[in-house]
Amino acid sequence: MDNQYSIDNARLIEQLARFVSFVHHTDGKTGPISFRDRSGFLGSKEDYKSLAVENARKELQIDKWRESDIGTGEIGKYATKAINKARNLVNLYQQIEFKNRLNKNHPKFSISAEQALYNLYCKPGYEISSAFNDAVNAFGAKYDLISFLFFIKDDTNFLPVSPRHFDEGFASLNIDFKTSHRCSWDNYLAFIKIIKRIYSVMTNVLPMDGVLRLIDAHSFVWIIQQERFINWQPTNESILAIEESAENSLQNIISGHGGTGIHHSNYFIHSAEVNKATKKRAHGICQLCNSPAPFIDKNGNPFLEVHHVKWLSRGGSDSTDNTVALCPNCHRRVHILDLQEDIDKLKTAIEQSDNDNHI
Ligand SMILES: [Zn+2]
Ligand SMILES: [Zn+2]
Repeated sequence: MDNQYSIDNARLIEQLARFVSFVHHTDGKTGPISFRDRSGFLGSKEDYKSLAVENARKELQIDKWRESDIGTGEIGKYATKAINKARNLVNLYQQIEFKNRLNKNHPKFSISAEQALYNLYCKPGYEISSAFNDAVNAFGAKYDLISFLFFIKDDTNFLPVSPRHFDEGFASLNIDFKTSHRCSWDNYLAFIKIIKRIYSVMTNVLPMDGVLRLIDAHSFVWIIQQERFINWQPTNESILAIEESAENSLQNIISGHGGTGIHHSNYFIHSAEVNKATKKRAHGICQLCNSPAPFIDKNGNPFLEVHHVKWLSRGGSDSTDNTVALCPNCHRRVHILDLQEDIDKLKTAIEQSDNDNHI
């Protein structure tokens, strides 16, 4: 499963930069962003999920569950109260179906429903994948519901899923992964894995007030598929800031200044190779002003920065046919002036260097 879903790092980082800018715009302030400050956009719109899971867990009171209660409706009473705290994390129809199967007086009541919950929360050493399958068998392939039951179990490793929305969120990150109509343990594991990768990039690039939680990465994917995010038109100034912060994040991570060291993982190998090849073919000369790099870095390499001629935020690709190596001055220049003549010159420089280097 490791290489099954590739993540477009440049796209992810660009969307994160846009996300930060969007939050600043919505909150009316700049600086580190918080997912918990209830007076801000993220805290007020997203932090309810932590509260929902906490309240649901309290209602569940699993310390009171006995194996002999299975089939009596006792476990169902607790679970019903717990699901009432789920708010929009489980769609209403799925909540009702869940309660029916746990209600002793309802024709849909089933012993396997209480058994599945007992296995998930109380049975020592019970396989987690089996617990997932038990839940599917007992309640149906209801992804909102089952993922929420797992979220209650351990919110540092499991997350709620809202299939259609997450499919759209992943699509906007160029991640080709679907959860719709695919409620299964394998799909859920892959979903969690993707969110964890996004989370690890977020911990490296987001200017955060407070520690980032896994559920915050979930909130990020949720927000970027919303219309208000998609339709938001940044000002020219914001576009500059987004592009600059996206490129900086990418370069810092690749060069190992990204914080917690995800450059050791394989997520950034592609970007790192693009960076390396771009600098190599420039031979230490800025591709805009044609001056030598201003200094030699600690490793003995000419100091140049990699720039995306068609900006990442304008859909430019993170590949060598779109990158040039620039001195810091020229890099500032192209971001601040954004002149067509510079763009044309850089495109010619790429063609030229490709001919020279036979890439
Ligand atoms: Zn230059
Ligand atoms: Zn640049």
